Amino acid sequence: MQTLSEIRELLAEAGQEPTKRFGQNFLIDANLMAKLIELADMDSAQTVLEIGPGTGSLTEELVARAGRVVAVEIDRGLAALLQRRLGGQGNLTVLQADALAGKHKLAPEVLAALAQTGRANLVSNLPYNVAVPILINCLNESWRSLRTPGQAVRFSRLTFTVQRELADRLVADMGSSDYGPVSVLVSLLARSTPGRILPPQAFWPPPKVHSQMVRLDFDETLAEQVKDLPTLSALLGATFQHRRKKISTAGKRRDCPFDEQRFLAGLGTCEIDPDSRPEQVSPEQFRRLANWLEGFTRIGSDLVE
Ligand code: SAM
Repeated sequence: MQTLSEIRELLAEAGQEPTKRFGQNFLIDANLMAKLIELADMDSAQTVLEIGPGTGSLTEELVARAGRVVAVEIDRGLAALLQRRLGGQGNLTVLQADALAGKHKLAPEVLAALAQTGRANLVSNLPYNVAVPILINCLNESWRSLRTPGQAVRFSRLTFTVQRELADRLVADMGSSDYGPVSVLVSLLARSTPGRILPPQAFWPPPKVHSQMVRLDFDETLAEQVKDLPTLSALLGATFQHRRKKISTAGKRRDCPFDEQRFLAGLGTCEIDPDSRPEQVSPEQFRRLANWLEGFTRIGSDLVE
C-alpha cells in the first residue's frame, strides 16, 4: 500500500490535488487497509470491482490477490495515472467513468466489463456522496441476476468503507432511529458483518466524520423470497417518506404508488397494525406486504434513495 508521502508525490506528478467533489479522502493507515482486505477474504478465483481506485493504493493489493480486477475512476487525471502505473498488470482493467449512470443504474460499461464472468465482489473505499446508490444498485443487480440469469451481474460480496452514519443505517434493527429503507433492503437481501471503525486521521485529507467497514454477503435464499424488488423499494419509499406518520396513512396519500384498497387490505393480511409507524414494521412484514402488492402499482415505482 502507498504511504502518505507516496500519495502526495503521485498526485503532484499528475498535477492534481484531492477534490471534495469526488470525495477524495485517501486511506493512509496500513493496519486498517489490511483489515479491509482481510474482511473481503479474496482469492484468485474472484473478479473484484473497485469503485474509486484513486492513486491505486488498494488496487495494488487487489491485483495481487484477486483473479481479475475492474477499477472504475471518475477523475480523468487519476484514471490516467492508474493506467500508467498499473495498466501493465494483465488482470487489471481500468475504466475512466462515473460508476453510476444516474441514480438508479450502474454504468453500462462497468456491467459490460463484468458480464463475462457474471459474478463479482465489490471491494472499495467508497466515495461517500454516492455510496448509497452504488450499494443499492449492486444489491438490485444481484437480485435481478436471480430473475434473469446471464443478464445481470451477481455481486456475491460487497466489502467497503463508508461514513459511520451510513454503516449504522445499513445494519440498523427495527425500532432504532437509524432503521429505514436501506436497513430493510439489506436485511432482506444480504447478511451483514460490521467491520472496523476508522477515525478521520486514517485518511488524507481527513474527512469530518468517522468511517466504518462493512461486509454484505448476498443471500440467495433470502433474496428469492422477494417477489419484485422494485415493488419493495416503492413501498419503502412511500412509507418511510413520512416516518412519523401511521403506516395506514401512506395508502391514502395521492402519490401512493399502490392501489389504496389493496394497500389497506394488505396491512390486515400481513398482520401489520395500521396504527404502527414504519420503523415499527419488521423487514419480513415489509416483504410480505410488498409481495401482496406486486402487480398493484398505481404509478411508476422508484428505487429507494
Ligand atoms: N481507493 C482510494 C483509497 O482507498 O484511498 C481512494 C478512495 S476515495 C474515498 C474515493 C475515490 O472515488 C476517489 O478516487 C474519487 O475520485 C472516486 N470517485 C468519486 N465518485 C466516483 C464515481 N461516481 N465513480 C467512480 N469513481 C468515483
